[in-house]
Amino acid sequence: MSWDDVMTWVPLLTEPERHWQEVAEDLTRDRFAPRAAEVDSSGDYPWDHVEALTESGLTGLMLPVVHGGRAEALTTGVAVAETIGRVCPSTCTVWSSYAIGALPVLHAGTDAQRDRYLTEVVAGRAIGFALTERHTGSDPSSVKTTAVRSGGGWRVTGEKWLVGNGGAASFYTVFARDDVTAKLTAFLLEADSDGLVVDDYQDKMGLRGTTTSNLRIDCTVSDDRRLGELGRGLSLGLRALNTGRVLAAAMACGMAEAAFGEAARRAVSRESFGGALIDHQGIGFRLADVATEISAARMMTWEAARSNRGSGPDRTASSMAKVYATEVAHRAVDAAVQVLGAEGYAKPHPVERLYRDQRVLEIYEGSSEMQRMGIARAIAAHHRGAPTATT
Ligand SMILES: Cc1cc2nc3c(=O)[nH]c(=O)nc-3n(C[C@H](O)[C@H](O)[C@H](O)COP(=O)(O)OP(=O)(O)OC[C@H]3O[C@@H](n4cnc5c(N)ncnc54)[C@H](O)[C@@H]3O)c2cc1C
Repeated sequence: MSWDDVMTWVPLLTEPERHWQEVAEDLTRDRFAPRAAEVDSSGDYPWDHVEALTESGLTGLMLPVVHGGRAEALTTGVAVAETIGRVCPSTCTVWSSYAIGALPVLHAGTDAQRDRYLTEVVAGRAIGFALTERHTGSDPSSVKTTAVRSGGGWRVTGEKWLVGNGGAASFYTVFARDDVTAKLTAFLLEADSDGLVVDDYQDKMGLRGTTTSNLRIDCTVSDDRRLGELGRGLSLGLRALNTGRVLAAAMACGMAEAAFGEAARRAVSRESFGGALIDHQGIGFRLADVATEISAARMMTWEAARSNRGSGPDRTASSMAKVYATEVAHRAVDAAVQVLGAEGYAKPHPVERLYRDQRVLEIYEGSSEMQRMGIARAIAAHHRGAPTATT
């Protein structure tokens, strides 16, 4: 353990973690930072950043070498997410969508599916994760999209909503209720499939360089597009989200650190009533609390990543890291806007953007309430019975 120049905890890195952190730092400094404000204001998907991520090997960071990936640990993913998240959360979200989108294929794909789709992800083509529908986000048991057996294949019909990478992805993992088990089964649909329409893009408060869209589906596909066993789609999706939560926590830590750094620098340089802001206890104590919380959030996030023994991180550890780190980021960006005063409230200050980008971290990949529900169920299960899964 050590402490960095803004007085928050930093992990001791292994050689691969340090190497990939440096790769991410170089890209962030040279490619992402100069365009971060523009990506936000234009709302354009950062294809040039995807190209940079692909060229550097980051799109396949945690995928097997046999598919062209680098087979790095989740802790290395955390180092990358923190680094990019400090500067361009939109790009960080795009990057982590490559990691998360590939996981259902990695976990349940046939050899042919893995050969095909994981190689594509490494080459920079994203797989969208289509679980949410307009009437249901937190409760995937209410999904209405159906998959009905048709000849030797399936007719998948329905509508998905808030699909990350919508329109930018080359493939989508669509979760549909099959007519055999009446449970969710995952299907891999190509973006250019007949009957697949991407529309109704959301105009968002933050993460404006990412796309979220509607997906209208009426596709007939062969059985080799089914991903994993019949009726096992929900557990497949939740398993991917479990890893996604650790990456969301890492991005939250990066955003919190960036906001805190801005606030701390301002607090020592700005004077009021004859002294630096930080010497007024109301400001100094607030920054002390934020630094303490960021340190704790990073420790939890790194430990959650370290709990991964191949089948994914410990579920409770990932939920705890996600809920805590994303809420610490909320308090950190809020404190930064307050300490910077009007300057932090105005565009194009990075703190103004971080304030907007941070908010969704408490909603997606399972909201804060869903994480608390999962943690409470784990506590209950430990003491009296078995838990059930939530997003
Ligand atoms: C930018 C962005 C990207 C996204 N990307 C994807 C994606 O790639 N793929 C995908 O499938 N989805 C995606 N989503 C959807 C996201 O997963 C959902 O928004 C999320 O699961 C919450 O669902 P909801 O918005 O429908 O809220 P609801 O489920 O309607 O919940 C509303 C509020 O009520 C709370 N709540 C609900 N039930 C309970 C309860 N029992 N107890 C206490 N509180 C409760 C929730 O926590 C939330 O705060 C994305 C969303 C956004 C905003």
